[in-house]
Amino acid sequence: MTVSGHVVITGGASGIGEATAVALLDEGVAVTVLDADRDAVMRMEDRFEGEDIAAFTCDVTDEDEVAERLAEAAGAFGPLTGLVNCAGIARDMPAEKTPVETFRQILDVNLTGSFIMCQAALEQMDDRLSIVNIASVSGLRANAGRVAYGASKAGVVMMSQVLANEWGGHGVRVNVIAPGPIDSPMVRTLHTADDRKVWTSRTPMRRYGNVGEVANAILFLLSEEASYINGHVLAVDGGFLSAGITTE
Ligand code: NAD
Repeated sequence: MTVSGHVVITGGASGIGEATAVALLDEGVAVTVLDADRDAVMRMEDRFEGEDIAAFTCDVTDEDEVAERLAEAAGAFGPLTGLVNCAGIARDMPAEKTPVETFRQILDVNLTGSFIMCQAALEQMDDRLSIVNIASVSGLRANAGRVAYGASKAGVVMMSQVLANEWGGHGVRVNVIAPGPIDSPMVRTLHTADDRKVWTSRTPMRRYGNVGEVANAILFLLSEEASYINGHVLAVDGGFLSAGITTE
């Protein structure tokens, strides 16, 4: 796959984002990681010292901080050729017990944070920019317990498609990955043993995906080989979205 230039990854200090950073470094791409978790950012800095990667602590909901960090990143590694919005938070709880404050916070990070990043990336882009936003199968199917998370991810899908429409004529492609259950730090905290049984049994491939499998799809959408793909939602879900009745 032909990926080049400088890619910014939010939530890049853990899980899917971290796997994407590693895969891009292997391709010789310069990477900037933005993540709210200071300790995880410091671990990234230690792990990749001397490589073409910069890691910054940054909250994607803070537009001033985002603008500052992206300007700094473009100064160090050149204008952006790619942006991957992986930063996200999730809570599982019944709708009637979901505090409004929690609902707001999940929308703020997952949806508004991605929008802030897309706008800021446009300011720092090269003549071409590929944006990959990470939604979820829960933004396309109504999974119980996920009223805020599902709404935020459905919003990510439509926001991305509107941006793909508005910016497609300006050298910007905007696509979406909808992961199914992926074995990451987020899911290890979120899913109980019973949840794992339910998700595994509802997934035709009968297993969780791994973070590298999502990173591979992200790299494809960033790459030159995907040069005419815009506004697309690519499920990386072991068949979860396409399944009807599943067999034992
Ligand atoms: P993860 O928890 O391992 O990584 C998420 C990262 O986002 C963390 O490092 C966290 O510090 C960072 N983050 C959270 N809030 C932030 C903020 N305000 N600003 C900057 N960084 C922030 O989780 P993951 O599983 O790798 O998830 C990556 C993305 O994939 C998320 O958007 C998640 O919703 C989505 N997703 C994951 C799965 C799954 O099964 N793991 C399924 C569907 C979608």
